[in-house]
Amino acid sequence: MNRSDLPRIIIFLIIAIIFPGNAGFAARETHYISDNSLKKYGVIFERETYSSHFIVIQGGKKFYFADGESVFVYNSRIYTLRSPPHVTPARIYLDADFVKNNLNVTRPSYKGDDPPPSDVNIPNKEKPSVALPETKNNYPDFIVIDPGHGGRDPGTLNKRYREKNITLATSRHLYKHLRKKFPQTRVYLTRHSDIFLNLEKRSDIANEIMRPGEMGIFISIHCNASFVSRVNGFEVFYLDSNPSNDEAREVSLRENGIADGPGYAKKLESVLINTQIQAESKMLARQINRSLLASMRGTTVGRGVRKADFSVLRGALMPSVLLEIGYLSNPREAAAMNQENYWQKISVGVENGIKAFVRNRPGME
Ligand SMILES: [Zn+2]
Repeated sequence: MNRSDLPRIIIFLIIAIIFPGNAGFAARETHYISDNSLKKYGVIFERETYSSHFIVIQGGKKFYFADGESVFVYNSRIYTLRSPPHVTPARIYLDADFVKNNLNVTRPSYKGDDPPPSDVNIPNKEKPSVALPETKNNYPDFIVIDPGHGGRDPGTLNKRYREKNITLATSRHLYKHLRKKFPQTRVYLTRHSDIFLNLEKRSDIANEIMRPGEMGIFISIHCNASFVSRVNGFEVFYLDSNPSNDEAREVSLRENGIADGPGYAKKLESVLINTQIQAESKMLARQINRSLLASMRGTTVGRGVRKADFSVLRGALMPSVLLEIGYLSNPREAAAMNQENYWQKISVGVENGIKAFVRNRPGME
């Protein structure tokens, strides 16, 4: 130590006194706490077999994690972590900052058999505070509208119409409508023109829009097709990796189609999909279906809420639905789907469905 170091040391000491927990933050390493040390505080870890995902539960609060991902999901909202969790076959290690801020623990100490990835020192805090925002708006923070297909992927075809054009026209109308009806919500389109977007890119766009603590909604717009030309109606799908029947599986195969690029399966594994987002997607699908039944009355029929394994819904970290607005294989319905009147009724149904979803959505406990 020489005299010129003195001012720096004094500043360091002042900081250390003001922020005792953060002393030495300039060269701070990540501190982790193991699942084993958290057990005695009633923290439960649920691991999914064959998956990098796990759930941390304490007193009715559920936090969703994925190995190596610097985010967690709580109450359908995404939050950033300073350091990703570290998962070994035997143990799960959580960032001590997360533990300190979000779990009700007092000075956990490491008592496990495995060496931890690093120190497990955490500053003594009398009352750990929950750092999550408690705001519950009566509108979503953002809505992403995804016009299905585009560019070299035309989607379903009939003699006169292409799915990609109808989905774009409908989505543009819906976009303008929702911007008017939800002035405080940011509304986006994944594509504005006839361009090709792979499915991964679509959910990436949605996820990039999301800021920590926000609640967003993702709606993908499609048209259905059947070998039986008189079949008509709209359907609302939500993600489920075990589709309810063969028909739903067939729809998901067609919609996933050529856009399923290489490496997609791997990407899926790294993305946090969780049961809460799925449950909320189901609620959103039901509300939109109910409102569409009202707005589409006299125009077409509702064929119900269905579950399907759509790749485009898999990557989104928010409540997501896929809307099949009608059947292109039905000549009358195909012509109707090219009318602004049809887009308007779809838009009103979606608007009211989102409003009902936000109203009835369970808040923070
Ligand atoms: Zn489609």
